[in-house]
Parts: sequence; structure tokens; C-alpha cells
Amino acid sequence: MTSNDGIDETHDPGLFSWVSSANDPQSDFPIQNLPFGRYTLQGDSQLRVGVAVGEHVVDIVAAADHGLLVGDAFAAADVCRGGSLNAFMALPREKTTALRRALSRLLADGCAVRDQVATCLVSQTDARMLVPTEVGNYSDFFTSLHHARNSGRVSGREPPIHPNFDHLPVAYHGRASTLAISGTPVVRPHVQYVPSNTSQLPVFAPTKRLDFECELAVFVGVGNDLGQRITLEEARSRVFGIGSLNDWSARDTQRWESVPLGPFLAKSFLTTVAPWVVTLDALAPFRIPSAERVTELPLLPHLVDAENTAAGGLDIRLRVLLRTLRMKEAGIAPAVISEPRFRDQYWTVFQMLVHQCSNGCRAFPGDVLGTGTISGPSPGELGCLLELTEGGKLPLSVAGEHRAFLEDGDEVVLEARCERSGWRSIGFGQCIGTVSKSID
Ligand code: CA
Repeated sequence: MTSNDGIDETHDPGLFSWVSSANDPQSDFPIQNLPFGRYTLQGDSQLRVGVAVGEHVVDIVAAADHGLLVGDAFAAADVCRGGSLNAFMALPREKTTALRRALSRLLADGCAVRDQVATCLVSQTDARMLVPTEVGNYSDFFTSLHHARNSGRVSGREPPIHPNFDHLPVAYHGRASTLAISGTPVVRPHVQYVPSNTSQLPVFAPTKRLDFECELAVFVGVGNDLGQRITLEEARSRVFGIGSLNDWSARDTQRWESVPLGPFLAKSFLTTVAPWVVTLDALAPFRIPSAERVTELPLLPHLVDAENTAAGGLDIRLRVLLRTLRMKEAGIAPAVISEPRFRDQYWTVFQMLVHQCSNGCRAFPGDVLGTGTISGPSPGELGCLLELTEGGKLPLSVAGEHRAFLEDGDEVVLEARCERSGWRSIGFGQCIGTVSKSID
């Protein structure tokens, strides 16, 4: 680690909180994490901004109103007064970092004003979480080499990977209206597709090939002006944080509609996001080199620099769990069906933001970039059923049942966590969706 690696006293693995649930080694939200989210309380429509610690949420504005924050930390909390994280993410990094450091001190063991801080805590069970930002724009990328290779092969593309893959992080424009909070029902959409075993004529019917895609959500901090590019150096402080994201996909219409312009309705019926945004500050101990390139061909200069190569990667481990309706009724816990790792992703989150804005396209604070399905080289690391079942040909066995694609009642849970020897593990919370039958 270098002196500008972002590591400070908030990452100290010896730091513990007087909020005892934060000290559970299994907790996603130890004091070293402090992810941001938005919520309301029961019977109260006021939007609030909070930070997760253990099983609780700290109300940021309440902490400011109690006189517990000063200087930059107060200023950063003050912009959350309207219950929006967008204005907070628009602040220069030093201000958002100041608030995180102040909260770390307030929540640490030995804090002299803990009784006052305790009045700003609510239980997470009492908080109704919302999509973390008011998302202005949403793009979804395609940046896993293994996902590109596998999905290309399964879909019969020749060659499986287009030559552009080595030169730019491929993406399409999604719809911000698609994003919904974890727990939102996944209503099986009606789509147009051509049944594989009948005529060449399409039908309009509930999708038969409903899939999940295990991804991460990249939340933009400071954006750019129209016509201005973002450099890689700038991108490192303009990616505010990372959440968990499930890009639900209807494979039958995706195959039919995507020629020649790419996905449209196959993706826009729902994209689920987890409620917490883990800051780049919190991720500092988990920065790693970017994934090794598989070609000798050089990258264009705006998409590469030494720091991106040395520390542009993020060592985030993901898990996909599936629980069928029968498992749920029998009280069987969700089964792990895949464990992808973001360290294998071919492009970094910073390169994604640079590419998004490289033509002068504007990015706003709070915008979301989906990383694209995260898949690794092994069979146990595939980020969607299309890959896990070879396009439905080799159904997955889960607790005695078989799944080519998702059935009504199936619950998919995405989890993400950073673990590194010598550092406290941090997690991203769960991103959950349960499939319900289509509405006629
Ligand atoms: Ca996707």
C-alpha cells in the first residue's frame, strides 16, 4: 500500500463499536464499513439518510442536529436534510470522507458522547429501505470475459466474443425506471418471443426463460459537464461507492429482440438493487490489480494508467443463493448455486465511468452503472442461469428439484463481501427477489 492508498484509522481491524451487533465477525456492517442508504420509518413519510452499523442505522441528520458533527462532517450531513443521497454524493470526496471518519469516531468503543449518539440509532428492522439514490440514468455493462465467452458460445455467436471486447467496456443504456429496491416482487413479464420448437412466428406470453444476473451497482459521485470527459485519475474520486444489483433477464425475448440493436424489453421489466452503498473509502483495503489482459493489443491511452493497472480492481466475493417455493415451505435455507469473484472482471469500475463519459455524455451524481454479469473461470463461479445451465440444456439440481430457468416462487438472493487476511471483512447486505406469476 502507498501513502495515498486511502487507508486510515477507520480501517483499523482492532477498532470495535459500542453497538455490539457491529462486532459480530459475520456482520456485513462492522464499524469499518459504514455504508450509506435511504429509508423511511413506519407511519412517517419523511425520507431519511442513514449509515448501517451492525443491526442498526444511524440517522445522519439527527446526528447533525444533536451537535455531534462539526466542520466538513456537519456540512456533508446537512445536505442530506431532504432525505436525498444525490446531493451528498455530489460533494467533493474529502467532505464525504470527513463524515465517514466522524461517524467512525462516534460509533467507536470509548466514545464519550455515545449516549447522545444512541438516540440517533434505529433498528434496521424498523427502517423501510429505498433505492439508495434518485437514479437519473442507468447503464448496464458487459465486462466479464468469462460471461462474454460463455454467453456468446451458448447463444451460438461466432466468434463468441466481438473484437471490441478487448478495447472498450461494452454497455447499453438501460432505464432508471427499471430500478427497484431489494424485496420488490419479480413479476414474470409478458414478452414477445419465438417458441423454439414450433413455427418461426412469435408469440406474446409470459417469458419461459427468466434469469437472474449477478452484478454490482456502481454509484456515480461527482459527475461531469456536458461535453467534458472524465479521466481515469478523476474517475477514482468520482465513483462514490458500490452496491449489489440483480439484472433480471428474459432470455427468450432477449434472443429475438436484440438483433441488431441490443437488449430492450428483455431487461427493462425490473432490476433489483440492494439498499446499501459501500463507499470507495471503505473498500480501500480491498483494492487489487486489475485483471490480467488476454491480448498483447494495447489499450487506448484514455482507458489505461499505471494506478488502474496496479490497484483498479476490487476484491469482492459474491454469492448467488436460490430457494424454491417447495424449499421455503419445507423450511429449507436458500442453497448457494454460484460464487463469482469481481476480481476476475476484465474492466475496472473506473474504466466503465471513463468510457461512459468519453464522448462528453453527462453523468449525474447518483447515476448507476451496472457492471454486467460477474462470472469466473470455474463452473461454480457463473453469474446467471444461462451459463450455469448451458442455455437450459443442463438443468441445475437444487435440493432435489431441477431448474433450467426460474420458476414462479423461486427466491434469488445475491450477497457480496470483501475478505482479506489482516483486515476486517465487510459486506454489502442482501439483494433479494422472488418470482411471482405473470399478471394477465
Ligand atoms: Ca446485465
